[in-house]
Amino acid sequence: MKYAFSAEQIADPQLGPATKAIRSCVHCGICTATCPTYVLLGDERDSPRGRIVLMKDMLEKGGAPTKEQVYHIDRCLSCLNCKTACPSSVNYQRLVDQARAHIQDHYTRPLGERILRWTIAKVMTRPKLVRIGLLLARIGAPIAVILPGRLGAMARIGLTARPQGPEPTQFPKPAQVKQRIAIMPGCVQGALSPQIDAAVGRVLARRGIELVALEGSGCCGALPHHMGREHDSKTWAKKAIMAFEQGHYDGVLITATGCSAQLKDYAHQFAGDPVWEKRASTFAAAARDFAELCTPLTTTPPRALRVAYHPACSLQNSLKLNGVGEALLEAAGFIVAPFAESHLCCGSAGTYSILQPELSSQLRERKLGHIAAARADVLVSGNIGCLQHLAAGLSQPILHIAELLDWAEGGPKPVNLELFSKSH
Ligand code: SF4
Ligand code: SF4
Repeated sequence: MKYAFSAEQIADPQLGPATKAIRSCVHCGICTATCPTYVLLGDERDSPRGRIVLMKDMLEKGGAPTKEQVYHIDRCLSCLNCKTACPSSVNYQRLVDQARAHIQDHYTRPLGERILRWTIAKVMTRPKLVRIGLLLARIGAPIAVILPGRLGAMARIGLTARPQGPEPTQFPKPAQVKQRIAIMPGCVQGALSPQIDAAVGRVLARRGIELVALEGSGCCGALPHHMGREHDSKTWAKKAIMAFEQGHYDGVLITATGCSAQLKDYAHQFAGDPVWEKRASTFAAAARDFAELCTPLTTTPPRALRVAYHPACSLQNSLKLNGVGEALLEAAGFIVAPFAESHLCCGSAGTYSILQPELSSQLRERKLGHIAAARADVLVSGNIGCLQHLAAGLSQPILHIAELLDWAEGGPKPVNLELFSKSH
């Protein structure tokens, strides 16, 4: 695609890759059929091709974007399905990340929206504050269930969450340690589902992997990054990098695929930074996802359940670990039940379920319809955002893949499965 970026813009370490993505786009439109918002809305401006034009115009001109540009770029999920489908290898991620940061720096949103985005960036990245929020949501449950729009979407996260036990700080030590991996606590997951990291610790210990809590780290920075709040996002990234540099580890793990994808992208986030780029690259190279560390283990589960596996977009399109979850489940004796459109985003997409509740709900209903047709006993995924989002409105139990594998390998029965068995 033709553009009029200056030599200075093209040489910029952050903007440069975005200009390259624009130039690579040949406008063929192959990506449109894979874009969830285009599938729902049928509007070219809500397709990857249409958004590339909007982002080009916005970034080329610089300064304040138009309302129309912000409206359609905001409706992008950053699911990166388009990137996977594109025959010209357009790196849509570089472009949309740059566009979000540009909007954050040059556009004044209405006051209510600014407060909401600030709250997400400051509260949801801190487990202690998330726990207070959960408590308030439960106390105010009768009101929370009827709250409309974005406020309701945020409050209902607190109602579907069932935290089980405290956040683990110590993990089982294998008899023979093959790898020593630092584990980051993350943000919302620690407050909403602390049982996930406990199960991950047991599963990996059976494979000779010792987990060590990475003191001093917290959120990976993905939540503020999704809103273009690069300063907040980089502050979290620096904390994680500094914490990792204090010890000697064979890798660093965070147990949500969306967060793993963020860790692996730190090198780009700090591109051109004389102090942080190299350190970020070293950290990113050490980042591991659970699906990369967990090897298949043949076993016989207490019940050979039919399992629907929801591969998060971050797993499919960023980490490129397609098929790994299904292989782990099959080795553990479960029957994997396929369902239609498993490649399409469920609508969770980081902060999307809060910021775009209507589109997000439509995508969830579509996904749940396909999952229902698979007649599975249980739904599993590897990303807390998807788990939380899909739990609302699901008739089966929903678990992190590590919880189910742990049970199959002799660990405790997941509470969600226990509750379901009692009610059926
Ligand atoms: S498939 Fe690639 S080249 Fe074609 S319109 Fe989409 S982004 Fe552009
Ligand atoms: S990232 Fe997802 S929602 Fe955004 S344009 Fe690409 S396919 Fe569509």
